Amino acid sequence: MSKPRVAIFDFACCEGCQLQIVNLEEEIVDLISLVEPVEWREAMTESSDEYDIAMVEGSITRPQDEERVKEIRERAKILVAIGSCATTGGINKLKNNFDLDDVKRWVYGEAADMPHLNTAVTKSVGGVVKVGNNIAGCPINREEFKYVVRCLALGKEPVIPDYPVCVECKKRENACRFEYGEICLGPITRAGCNAPCPSAGFWCYGCRGYVDDPNVNAAKDIMEKYGKTIEDLKQKMVLFGGKQEQTI
Ligand code: SF4
Ligand code: SF4
Ligand code: SF4
Repeated sequence: MSKPRVAIFDFACCEGCQLQIVNLEEEIVDLISLVEPVEWREAMTESSDEYDIAMVEGSITRPQDEERVKEIRERAKILVAIGSCATTGGINKLKNNFDLDDVKRWVYGEAADMPHLNTAVTKSVGGVVKVGNNIAGCPINREEFKYVVRCLALGKEPVIPDYPVCVECKKRENACRFEYGEICLGPITRAGCNAPCPSAGFWCYGCRGYVDDPNVNAAKDIMEKYGKTIEDLKQKMVLFGGKQEQTI
């Protein structure tokens, strides 16, 4: 059986998720025994329009990006969005809270009107084309990346948690950040990272995106119990959720 051909592409992002893949180092050899990389700008010079699996990092922030990701989608049998920028729009979605012309001028000053600096409302990859699988996180979790690649190479559907980070956090017996007067997004954020932030003494800032059906009432109860308001929670959600995705 021939190995699935994989191409990795990037859009608006810091490329930190691709760096996570590069940082797998010798473990990449194991993955290459399962799949054949045919394009990956960050790590190889070859390129190809023939691939089975397209992995897309970054969010869609310009009209020309929409066209490009649609072409990638047409060529691939499976499209995998990798990292928060691609799965939810990520930090780039902060831009959507402001007037886009103002944003361009803040960033580019007098050069803002140059044609190649055009901009649009930031969208996730799934906001433009059909995504088969999402690998969440800012950056992605390397273990989860390897797991998803193995599943796809074997023709299996990866199982990604749809329960909150609190489950993994409690398994690690961490003291809850709310006990320290902080607001943590663990109760509404998708698990799968093994709660590294609360385990290191920080609140979860929701980089993996929210669970499909967040228990809004439980989140409200927690906020009330610790003397916080829903507005406080919404403030925390702006970084990764962006206003358009806030449901509480
Ligand atoms: S998800 Fe985070 S680490 Fe990954 S490309 Fe976007 S900003 Fe960088
Ligand atoms: S620290 Fe955060 S993730 Fe951990 S139990 Fe408390 S709210 Fe949940
Ligand atoms: S604990 Fe929260 S912020 Fe930290 S990696 Fe997990 S989802 Fe992201």
